[in-house]
Amino acid sequence: MKILVINAGSSSLKYQLIDMDGEVLLAKGLCERIGIDGKFTYKPLVEGKQKIDAVDVAMPTHAEAIQAVLDALVDPANGVVTSMDEIDAVGHRILHGGAKFTESCLVNDACIEAIRACIPLGPLHNPANLMGIEACTKCMPGKPQVAVFDTAFHMTMPPEAYIYAIPYEYYERDDVRRYGFHGTSHRYVSARCIDLLGNPAHSRIICCHLGNGSSLSACVDGKCVDTTMGLGPLAGVPMGTRCGDIDATIMEYLMGKYGYDIKTMMNILNKKSGVLGLSGVSSDFRDIEAAAQEGNKRARLALDKFYYEVRKDIGAYAAAMGGVDAIVFTAGVGENGGHDRAAICKGLEFLGVKIDPERNKVRGGENLISADDSAVKVFVIATNEELMIARDTKAIVEAL
Ligand code: ADP
Repeated sequence: MKILVINAGSSSLKYQLIDMDGEVLLAKGLCERIGIDGKFTYKPLVEGKQKIDAVDVAMPTHAEAIQAVLDALVDPANGVVTSMDEIDAVGHRILHGGAKFTESCLVNDACIEAIRACIPLGPLHNPANLMGIEACTKCMPGKPQVAVFDTAFHMTMPPEAYIYAIPYEYYERDDVRRYGFHGTSHRYVSARCIDLLGNPAHSRIICCHLGNGSSLSACVDGKCVDTTMGLGPLAGVPMGTRCGDIDATIMEYLMGKYGYDIKTMMNILNKKSGVLGLSGVSSDFRDIEAAAQEGNKRARLALDKFYYEVRKDIGAYAAAMGGVDAIVFTAGVGENGGHDRAAICKGLEFLGVKIDPERNKVRGGENLISADDSAVKVFVIATNEELMIARDTKAIVEAL
């Protein structure tokens, strides 16, 4: 069974074609600047096939983008399948499933309506995700599609973790609560971690998904009990450009002082804050690290702030779970940043965390980086959200 995985944004669309027999990635790529000047990238992972790098393709809407993907996949010279019939189903990454979706589901009218109903909760992403679904329906009529939600894994949180201490009616009437994101990644790496621990009867795992966007989750026996992101993906630890948790009074203060409207304020918190806002250098951790090495004090502060907040949340989750058996690092920074991992774990010795500096030199893969005498096992586990989406899609389609 071959599954096309789609992650549709407002002006971009990432895709992968995965052969589920052996879970082999056949091709992947990206459509960018949809609705603008259309750039198309295609990377076949089959011997002898040529890649296409950011070429101009007219993509006024997501439908032309999907068509470009299909054309490339079935291209007689450089395609990886002979016809569209070989693609059995499509799996979509959907940002917000509200409290309704506790797991992935087959795309049908009810599912589309429910995703639409979540637009107020995910105003930037859900409409784009729906455009991805509509485009596939148009270009591949009748092909089964599955929706996989970023929020679903976190729906096992207990009320005290997901409720905000504001008037209860906003929860009851308006669905204001913690939802959490990166759920597909947290689900994937926590499950892999349980495997690597030898499938114990009981496990308490803290997953640190640290990339451009970052979130932590606390997982007891494979189920999420808390996570750092909230109603939206702005909450938690500081990120590339997002502020993470702040005192809401800051908004009132700055809006009053500078006459910002809420849109301007949210733009500052979403796009101009985080390690970019603190360092003034970049949102990319590699650039900030380089600047810090050259003595840039704000770059140093940005990194220290990030490490401090991640470390603090690890401590908080150990307290929430009554202990911790394993910590997992994943995503861009978590998988590649050995320095970052070491800096985060510095000071966690009291919890029984002891990093082995040699083991910590790894990048990606699935690697133990804690010392043999560390009471808490620490792993680097490369995340694979697309594979998780493809697995869910396969399971749902096979059960039809
Ligand atoms: P996204 O959230 O967009 O999926 P990624 O998970 O790809 O992001 O993470 C991107 C981040 O990973 C960037 O800030 C980048 O600097 C960081 N990163 C990549 N390689 C390294 C590295 N060797 N050391 C530290 N950070 C790295």
